[in-house]
Amino acid sequence: MNKHDIIIIGLGPTGGTLANLLALHGFSILIIEKEKSFYPLPRAVHFDDEIMRVFQTIGITNKFLKHTIINKGTKFVNSKNKVVLDWPRPRLITENGWYPSYRFHQPDLERKLRGRLKDFKKVSIMQNTKVISLKENKNSLKVVLENVNNRKIKEVSSKYVVGCDGANSTVRELIKSKFQNLGFTQKWAVVDLILKKDKKELPDRTIQYSNPKQPATYCRNVGKRRRWEFAIHNNISEKKVLSNSYIWNFLKPWLNPRDAFMERKTIYTFQSAISKKWKKGRVFLAGDAAHLMPPFMGQGMCAGIRDASNLAWKIAYCLKNNHSEKLLNTYQTERYSNVKEYIKTTAKMGEFVNAIGTSNITGEVSSTSDGQKSMKSIKPKLGKGLGKVQDKNRGKIFPQFKIKSGKSLDDKFSLKPILILSKEIKKNISSKLNLIHSKNNKNLEKFFENSNSIAVIVRPDRFILSSCKSVKNFKYYLTKNLSFLA
Ligand SMILES: Cc1cc2nc3c(=O)[nH]c(=O)nc-3n(C[C@H](O)[C@H](O)[C@H](O)COP(=O)(O)OP(=O)(O)OC[C@H]3O[C@@H](n4cnc5c(N)ncnc54)[C@H](O)[C@@H]3O)c2cc1C
Repeated sequence: MNKHDIIIIGLGPTGGTLANLLALHGFSILIIEKEKSFYPLPRAVHFDDEIMRVFQTIGITNKFLKHTIINKGTKFVNSKNKVVLDWPRPRLITENGWYPSYRFHQPDLERKLRGRLKDFKKVSIMQNTKVISLKENKNSLKVVLENVNNRKIKEVSSKYVVGCDGANSTVRELIKSKFQNLGFTQKWAVVDLILKKDKKELPDRTIQYSNPKQPATYCRNVGKRRRWEFAIHNNISEKKVLSNSYIWNFLKPWLNPRDAFMERKTIYTFQSAISKKWKKGRVFLAGDAAHLMPPFMGQGMCAGIRDASNLAWKIAYCLKNNHSEKLLNTYQTERYSNVKEYIKTTAKMGEFVNAIGTSNITGEVSSTSDGQKSMKSIKPKLGKGLGKVQDKNRGKIFPQFKIKSGKSLDDKFSLKPILILSKEIKKNISSKLNLIHSKNNKNLEKFFENSNSIAVIVRPDRFILSSCKSVKNFKYYLTKNLSFLA
């Protein structure tokens, strides 16, 4: 029986990200994918700065950037086409070191993730294969697989299994985790088009049509790709909605068949749900297998990539540094409340688009002098887990500053924890630790001033593990955290 460190079930964006992050540590990884290839048609079209930072760690940004465009933001308009709410995404580099929001074509990303995996000798992919059963022993798991073409059975084993097998996850079923419905369920049609020629009159940002008669979304995607999504009324058949005549009639205000090819038309049930249990023993769930949300904020895939980023270094710490398995229990508690915040906000956005909610979606609406309302993006902290909840800095993402020699923090300390010290710490610290001083770095000095701290420890996933408030406590703080930093 072939033995691996980790088996990942499902090679969508979550599985692809997780596999890459773990492969960077040199682990042997087997990826099981039931399809022959990746899903060739678009689904996700947006991701944010935090996610680009994960792609930076993986090392795909150079090649992937040319397949993206910077997203200018979203406007919500009412049935009279008047803008009732703005969600601007200014073209400014954020604390994560990237633009706030990007548009992309999901197959381009999946191709890049798979391409990068070819660089790692200890990664293997079994396509046309699905998982049948999992059996946990003391230190490993036995995984039974079936080839979907010839039904041949194969047994493999690993120390951990991660189910990244999407909304209808088999792994979720195998660990008997309940998928709890969080209340949003609505059928929408999704139509992807490729323009035959430029159509400058089409909006260059996302438009949410908050129109009680026909709630809809327009997405300005990469290149000549454009997408319209619209809610389906109960009294109309899916067959009729998907007929060409119905769709072109819906698109009449913007396009006619001479303007664009219809790449895809389909119906999705947009829903919000979350798995009760994300871990059972040595088995984990991540991505759509663990949570679902409607796409109004473009955060479903982003949430899966955050899961991968949170889980990868914890598995690595257990496999490489012999850390206690308790570390792995913090995966669900840290990620659960973060993703719930996105689900809640997305549902509010959905209600507003359906013209049954208010514009107070993120609780941060401001009005400009002309009365236009504007909302901000959310960046929820991690839920309870590592570090103390009383520590106000703990669980926030640490900015990606440039350090000496112009290198970025993430590039210099990729996959490693970092101890960051303010100039108030004069003590000599072991050169074995990954260490930076704020001296002569204005951004870092400002960070310490604003965060009311004199030292912080940044986790490998770039979230703050803990901060130390006073020089007096520093010695104790360092001793307490040495095993984490080593
Ligand atoms: C219309 C629409 C628009 C969206 N827009 C956005 C957006 O703009 N931004 C965003 O962040 N998200 C968006 N999303 C959500 C996003 O597409 C998903 O969250 C994302 O694809 C989930 O990735 P995943 O890897 O977790 O699951 P999936 O992409 O579903 O991948 C799961 C993989 O597992 C495989 N698999 C399934 N079962 C098995 C099995 N038993 N054994 C082996 N393999 C298996 C599947 O073949 C698949 O390859 C959108 C979704 C939709 C429907």
